Amino acid sequence: MRRPNSQSARGGGGAKGGAGARCMTGGNGKKKGEKKKKKKKKKKKKKRRGREPGKKGKKMAENLKGCSVRCKSTWLQLQELCRARGLRCAALGVTRRNLVEFEVEYLCDYKRSGGDEFYLVKWRGYPDSANTWEPRKNLRCRGLLKQLHQDLARAPGGPVRPGPRGLPPRVSSYLVQKAEQRQALRRWEQQLNSTRSHRGRIAVENEVDLHGPPRDFVYINEYKVGAGIQLTPVAVGCECSDCMAEAAGGCCPGASHNKFAYNEAGLVRIRAGLPIYECNSRCRCGSECPNRVVQKGIRYNLCIFRTGNGRGWGVRTMERIRKNSFVMEYIGEIITSEEAERRGQVYDRQGATYLFDLDYVEDVYTVDAAHYGNISHFVNHSCDPNLQVYNVFIENLDERLPRIALFATRPIRAGEELTFDYNMHVDPVDAESTRMDSNFGLAGGALSSSPRSRGRIECKCGAAACRKYLF
Ligand SMILES: [Zn+2]
Ligand SMILES: [Zn+2]
Ligand SMILES: [Zn+2]
Ligand SMILES: [Zn+2]
Repeated sequence: MRRPNSQSARGGGGAKGGAGARCMTGGNGKKKGEKKKKKKKKKKKKKRRGREPGKKGKKMAENLKGCSVRCKSTWLQLQELCRARGLRCAALGVTRRNLVEFEVEYLCDYKRSGGDEFYLVKWRGYPDSANTWEPRKNLRCRGLLKQLHQDLARAPGGPVRPGPRGLPPRVSSYLVQKAEQRQALRRWEQQLNSTRSHRGRIAVENEVDLHGPPRDFVYINEYKVGAGIQLTPVAVGCECSDCMAEAAGGCCPGASHNKFAYNEAGLVRIRAGLPIYECNSRCRCGSECPNRVVQKGIRYNLCIFRTGNGRGWGVRTMERIRKNSFVMEYIGEIITSEEAERRGQVYDRQGATYLFDLDYVEDVYTVDAAHYGNISHFVNHSCDPNLQVYNVFIENLDERLPRIALFATRPIRAGEELTFDYNMHVDPVDAESTRMDSNFGLAGGALSSSPRSRGRIECKCGAAACRKYLF
């Protein structure tokens, strides 16, 4: 659907900048049921006039107090007057935005009569009772027209032909639901983008069903530390003049006898299973140090979309991603494994999988992304994934609390869905140098961390090598 653009960067504007397709009509045929406002407007005018001609006028104005005169101008004429003079008037609904023309919020019905096409217009800033039928020629909202016809083609019950009175009620109500859903998703998209601290923008689209934004999900940019858990900030950093050149034994990875994880281009070059130690706030190097990748956050524009085959929401990239690039972190609430056990029973009943055991060395903590998380919350499982999990240490060197970073396992095309293996296994033979103890088998037998689940969940990933069950 629509790419995020600079418009939404304005943010926070409520209805403004929302539905994206802004479109106007010449403003024919308006507005009923607004008598009260009309009167107010007229009173104002009189007062003003009264002052100018002096006493006589004043007296006239007084005589007119409490007396109402039918305004000879129509609503439309008053609005046109405002527009001609470039005046805004809240009572008349003439805002800075629609000063020149009316703004179509969405189209909610469609009919044909006498060879002409008419659309029922919901006007932005007006109640449903003010909807009016407009001939096609008055409408300049090509995007919304196209949208309506697309929706019509997909309406439940098959395509319909409009009669002279409009569409069947089930279809017109579907159109309204779709329009309202789009608005809700647009608002959610704005909210996500005003909350994100990373460079990559987030788009949202659902061209599949009537699902709106998820309830009870809060976007966060870093771990939310649960009760009774403390992160110990790092006390030392490196003194390198060139971190990359120090790679052999020095710099931050060297301090813990680990390898420098990246090449000059910031692509991960160590194999999965090995930990990544990035430079931190105590290091002498600056933000351009090649050992700072995950900490810079998501840089790709991504899209949360509704999948068409019962896998709920998914995430796809809107730009090409090179192999071995950092894509996103798996973020959520850090809780103890006992707490995870408790929550897991609840989640299992709901059939959701958001618990990710941090079992890099021992299984003490779990990331719960069910209610607090970033875009990774929406990334689906695949048995043939394009993302791979790495354990990362930056400001916190406690090995029980790694950060979980997802890197591209292969080049990913723009538009491709991003997935990772919820039940990933790293070949232990190949992992002799990882620091782990025997506990790694506890949560689904994954060497590196993995979201866990107890129930047997059928896999719908569609990969040729699909294992058929998630767990
Ligand atoms: Zn260094
Ligand atoms: Zn460093
Ligand atoms: Zn550095
Ligand atoms: Zn599968």
